[in-house]
Amino acid sequence: MTEKFDIIVVGAGILGVASAYYLQKNNPNKSILLVDSQPDAGQANTAMSAAAIRNMFSSSTNQLLTDTSIDFFRHIQEDLDFDLTLHFCGYLWLLSERQFKEPSVQTWMQRMEANNIAYRVIEKSELQKLIPGLVTDFSGDEEAELMNLNNVDYALFGAECGVLDPSLLVQFYKDEFLKLTKVKPRFNLHVEQLLLEAQPGLGLPGEPLVWQNKLVTGIKTKQGEIHADKIVVAVGPWTNTLLDPVGIPSYVKAKKRQLFMVAASDHQPLEEILFAKGFSKTGFIPFTILPSGGVYLRGVPEEKSFWIGCADKVGRTYKYTMEEDDYNAERAYYEQSVYPVLSKYFPAFSNARPGNMWAGDYAYSVDAIPLVYEHSGVIVVTGASGSGIMKADALGRITDALYRGESEAELYGGRKMSSKALGLVNRDVEVESVLI
Ligand SMILES: Cc1cc2nc3c(=O)[nH]c(=O)nc-3n(C[C@H](O)[C@H](O)[C@H](O)COP(=O)(O)OP(=O)(O)OC[C@H]3O[C@@H](n4cnc5c(N)ncnc54)[C@H](O)[C@@H]3O)c2cc1C
Repeated sequence: MTEKFDIIVVGAGILGVASAYYLQKNNPNKSILLVDSQPDAGQANTAMSAAAIRNMFSSSTNQLLTDTSIDFFRHIQEDLDFDLTLHFCGYLWLLSERQFKEPSVQTWMQRMEANNIAYRVIEKSELQKLIPGLVTDFSGDEEAELMNLNNVDYALFGAECGVLDPSLLVQFYKDEFLKLTKVKPRFNLHVEQLLLEAQPGLGLPGEPLVWQNKLVTGIKTKQGEIHADKIVVAVGPWTNTLLDPVGIPSYVKAKKRQLFMVAASDHQPLEEILFAKGFSKTGFIPFTILPSGGVYLRGVPEEKSFWIGCADKVGRTYKYTMEEDDYNAERAYYEQSVYPVLSKYFPAFSNARPGNMWAGDYAYSVDAIPLVYEHSGVIVVTGASGSGIMKADALGRITDALYRGESEAELYGGRKMSSKALGLVNRDVEVESVLI
């Protein structure tokens, strides 16, 4: 006897739990089994995230996905009284004059204006007052020139952006899902492969044969096979490990991303940066992206620390799938690549070394826009390209709309998106250029 459900959701990261919740909410009579190889939900890349949220993207697609998701996160915290430790500290992009005038940045600003995404331009003189100890001019600094460091002349500041705790967000969707279902999720359950079967099966050797219709009808695990009418694959950077063996296309590649925690306590100049007061009511520094090297910093006021990250591009290997040791951060990478840039812009970080560090993978799509599509009985939701927390609510709703055969998904606040816009075929998106 094999078990049978209406839907199996494979992967209980943020995209899996958000999808499971909306599927159950809008299909109350369907039985949905949520499975993950980890001991609980949200323990893989979702837990490794910097958990910053922004609606400041260059593409209208990502703007819509994030703007509506962030509105929903605000609703969870403010109206439903579920504390996500959501703080609207803002996002701050530091830019040189040359960067500011680049066509891509001008287009980015125009699209934000067209789509009512709030932001403001801050000039250097104001920035110097807002962030104590920020170096804005490297004239005459030969080392900085060698390192290709850009001056800081402007910043783009988005007040509707901030940070939250991803484990609480996962908890919210998981709790809401559990309220609606009698089917207990199964953790510590690794899906070894998707079961592809001929439709109808004729009992011939070698099925499914090339001339037969084929459908994924279930999953294979160490504890046996489990069948379902629809399988939702929400396994982030592991997408290819399940789709490749059955020949379903996915077009995502994984790239390692790391975070380094640097304590600000007991070091007055760092505390002054951390608690930079002038940007928002939160009284701490916005998520700040330096104009060189892809280095960024996120303030964590609760633990009086910074999380420092870097989105290294060329030179950092793309991988096809994610390996176990991808969770180990590299101290040498901090020392040699990140720290030299950070301490040039913020000399207060001189000699500051990470007390803790961790890593995970981004699942990049070709255009840095997520993928949600149906193929051979599987709905795939993946390719969040480093910003899956902030898009999770919209992606959960789109997955559900696709399942129900709706042509449009209604996002939070009533705005709509075609449920096929994020598909592989007739993909209707603008390429994203503002990546971190
Ligand atoms: C260092 C870092 C910083 C980041 N910063 C941000 C940020 O500031 N803001 C933001 O929005 N995003 C950020 N991200 C990206 C964000 O974490 C991801 O986009 C998001 O977590 C993707 O969610 P997911 O559910 O697709 O993947 P995951 O969280 O990886 O979930 C996939 C799940 O599938 C399970 N799984 C995989 N294979 C199988 C299998 N065969 N059988 C059973 N289960 C399986 C895994 O155990 C896992 O739980 C960051 C990521 C990293 C690594």
